[in-house]
Amino acid sequence: MYGLGILKGMAITIKHFVTSYVDDIFWASRGGRYYNDAALTVRQSLEGRGVVTVFYPEEKLAVPERFRFVPFLVTDDPAPGQKWAHEWCTSCGICAKVCPPQCIWIKRGTQPNGRPKPEPEEFYIDIDICMNCGLCAEFCPFDAIKMDHDYELASYDRTTAHIHDKERLSKPLSYWREIAPRKAEAEAAARDFTEQSKQKKKGKRGEAGDEPEDRLEELKARQLIYKGQLY
Ligand code: SF4
Ligand code: SF4
Repeated sequence: MYGLGILKGMAITIKHFVTSYVDDIFWASRGGRYYNDAALTVRQSLEGRGVVTVFYPEEKLAVPERFRFVPFLVTDDPAPGQKWAHEWCTSCGICAKVCPPQCIWIKRGTQPNGRPKPEPEEFYIDIDICMNCGLCAEFCPFDAIKMDHDYELASYDRTTAHIHDKERLSKPLSYWREIAPRKAEAEAAARDFTEQSKQKKKGKRGEAGDEPEDRLEELKARQLIYKGQLY
């Protein structure tokens, strides 16, 4: 009915307004004052309710696991005292091909014998052009590029500060596990499954019949991630 939507919207606003006071009274009754540390921790978490003013940048709201800003490249965790670790990117170029605004630029490495090296010598993303769609991360077959949660990237530099190079883009797996624990776990499970499946195939090489089924199981494991059933 015409106008009902406005009334519903107002009811939701009033509910949030009231909730914010109820929350304050609840936390004040526990901590003896409003906006104590415990209350702020809850307010800035995903459990926060009501309408509240966030005193950014001192206060920040937690972002959900699926939040995505600009991409970063996953590496192994460096050994103590080391800066670099194994990079997961194989320089296959798929992310650059699927990127709608074409803001990824990769230079593949070369081995001493002149053959292509399966890692990028250079990797750049122009984050001013990136539209945060996440397609690069969706399409990467090696889980090597992920969407970051760091959104505080503004700067006064109008030249190259927003063209992120390999060093700026590289972050260890532990960082990905920290910002997206459930997704990272689901991806690790799918990788394990794929690896086990490969080993199984190697063991059974020559026996006909079950390969299409194995492939189907691999695909199902991958689909669980993308359909969000595992996180
Ligand atoms: S990030 Fe992934 S898709 Fe992009 S080049 Fe590296 S391995 Fe390929
Ligand atoms: S998030 Fe989208 S626009 Fe940004 S680099 Fe990836 S594919 Fe390109």
